[in-house]
Amino acid sequence: MNLAGDYPYDFKKCVEFHGHLCPGLAIGYSAVKAAEGLMKTKASEDEELVCLVENNSCAVDAVQVLLGCTFGKGNLIFRDWGKQVFTFFDRNSGRAVRASFKQSNPAREAQRELREKIDSGTATEEDKKQFRKLREDYTKSLISEPASYFDVKEIKMDPPPLAQIADTLPCEICGEQTMVSRMVQREGSMICKDCAK
Ligand SMILES: [Zn+2]
Ligand SMILES: [Zn+2]
Repeated sequence: MNLAGDYPYDFKKCVEFHGHLCPGLAIGYSAVKAAEGLMKTKASEDEELVCLVENNSCAVDAVQVLLGCTFGKGNLIFRDWGKQVFTFFDRNSGRAVRASFKQSNPAREAQRELREKIDSGTATEEDKKQFRKLREDYTKSLISEPASYFDVKEIKMDPPPLAQIADTLPCEICGEQTMVSRMVQREGSMICKDCAK
């Protein structure tokens, strides 16, 4: 998707990766920018910077693009706690910064009412226009005022475990190579979780 002017270059990169522009993506962008005051967060080539995310929403895609914390490299850790909380850990310095979203969208109630009208098919063209406008204003404000949307503080934490080169063995039922640490023992056989279901 191509974005006209008005947005910072690095946010446009996030939109390109994510596929659409949404306030959720801007929340992730804002979390990274809010944390930058306390920690030099720069894109991670290897896994020196680790991000622990407590949700799997649109926001996480911005973290991946801006910081190079990815699922594949093992420096993006997902905790399924349903919170817009992002913790950044720098392996070089041992420092950790936690950014917690304050949910302070001033137009939240108005947006919710318009959304209900749109969903129920009673929205006028004017309502739809207004909804888009509120969404855009909110997105822009998230991008430009990270400090007013996030509580950010330095915390103490143990380094997350490093990604490991995994030993694999063939599953004794399907024969597919499987990480030993993920296999299940069943009647003396080592089998994969899929076969163990
Ligand atoms: Zn999205
Ligand atoms: Zn199997």
